[in-house]
Amino acid sequence: AVHAPAPHVVVLASPGVGHVAPVAELATRLAALHGVTSTIVTYTNLSSAASLASLPPGISTAALPEVPLDDLPAGAHIGTRIVTVVQRTLPHLRALLRSLLDDAPAGGVTAFLADMLCPAALAVAGELGVPCYVFYTSSLMSLVTLLYAPELARTTTCECRDLPGPVALPGCLPLHGADLVEPLQERADPVYGLFVDMGLDYLLSDGFIVNTFDALEHETMEAFRELSDKGVYPPAYAVGPLVRSVSDEAAKHHRCVPWLDEQPDGSVLYVCFGSGGTLSTLQTAELAAGLEASGQRFLWVVRFPNDKDSSACYFGGKTTDHGDADADDDPLSYLPEGFAERTRAVGLVVPEWAPQVEVLGHRAVGGFLTHCGWNSALEAMAAGVPALAWPLFAEQRMNAVKLASEHVGLALRVNAREDGVVPREEVAAAARELMVGEKGAVARERARELRAEARKASAPGGPAHQALAAVVDRWKCAAASPAVGDAP
Ligand code: UDP
Repeated sequence: AVHAPAPHVVVLASPGVGHVAPVAELATRLAALHGVTSTIVTYTNLSSAASLASLPPGISTAALPEVPLDDLPAGAHIGTRIVTVVQRTLPHLRALLRSLLDDAPAGGVTAFLADMLCPAALAVAGELGVPCYVFYTSSLMSLVTLLYAPELARTTTCECRDLPGPVALPGCLPLHGADLVEPLQERADPVYGLFVDMGLDYLLSDGFIVNTFDALEHETMEAFRELSDKGVYPPAYAVGPLVRSVSDEAAKHHRCVPWLDEQPDGSVLYVCFGSGGTLSTLQTAELAAGLEASGQRFLWVVRFPNDKDSSACYFGGKTTDHGDADADDDPLSYLPEGFAERTRAVGLVVPEWAPQVEVLGHRAVGGFLTHCGWNSALEAMAAGVPALAWPLFAEQRMNAVKLASEHVGLALRVNAREDGVVPREEVAAAARELMVGEKGAVARERARELRAEARKASAPGGPAHQALAAVVDRWKCAAASPAVGDAP
């Protein structure tokens, strides 16, 4: 018998650490558990190369060349910029896939995976006869809402925040229109149509590989299974929680670690809005004053404020994803006068990239004020740390609804005023409630239970492993019996 080479997959990661890091983790597991080799393809626009620093053997990387974006209006939505990069690099992706397909000794291309923001690339793989999948790096519920976007666009005319009733989708929490993904909030913005198209492009895939787990989304998974059994949607595979493993030496030696070592167990509130989350100047000052007034210990990852864009740091903001800001400007200079000195005994502010997985796993950390990026949410669960939900953009409001729901119960909500600002009194009250209040104690108990569920889900032979094995089996079967018209 001819020895078939190990399956080789190409995984396209959209810009941003929140996408590249889970792609790297998925590729790492595919190599470790199934001997599947992969090529991770990234974009040069907003590179996140540091997330790809230490990959095991069998995983290679390729970067699509930078494409010009200067014809986009200055205030173009981040989603518009990302999708534009995806579209403009398609010819380069096609050429790359062709050359990999011709490289039979390296395994050709068994399957192509595009992450949640680049389903526009699925058509290219389809043309070349390669089975294609979406690697969805957020909740299954948010995937369901994006699959619903084309129907929403067709059957309604108002802005979704003005819909008369909640949006009730199969197996999902009832959602207020305002809690649907933020790019669907303004029909007149070009990003609206781009996200509706994304909902259509997803249907080109042979399956969804979703970074979630059963205990978190049981009902959604059941409802989705029924729909995919009927052929409405491709099947979904829950392979999560995929959380970066703690191994990075630099992370262990970050200056916040010795500071955390000095703090009592469970006493520190970790404050971080992800790789792109950005507060206004006023909000930064209110958050500072609120943390100070709360009397709680805190570790705050501070970014440059921006008064127009809550995702400014993500794409072209002043900080890059690893925090090498302009030497002559300092995010800490935007904090209230004397703040760092007055809070020295209880707080640490870091303007650079923090080793979040390590921080959340530190015994001194007892709470997480988060923008509810999906990776941050999964990392909080994996570490058993309860949260305060402070969503900013993308699908974060929907994630906040889920995290604060009765069923999940990981997070308490932080309430903004009419003008969108969370005042200092609210920050202080929420921080105290989470760290030392009764509701916080309930959330802490739920966080511990979720940690146990997350461990069960990703244990050897557990549901995440089984789901991944099922996908790999499909790849192997497809490779063994190529579709008519494919290579010999
Ligand atoms: N992160 C980190 N240090 C920081 C900020 C973010 O390690 O200072 C990591 C965090 O652990 C998570 C990712 O960056 O894995 C952010 O992804 P998420 O989905 O939470 O939010 P996004 O940045 O995509 O909005």
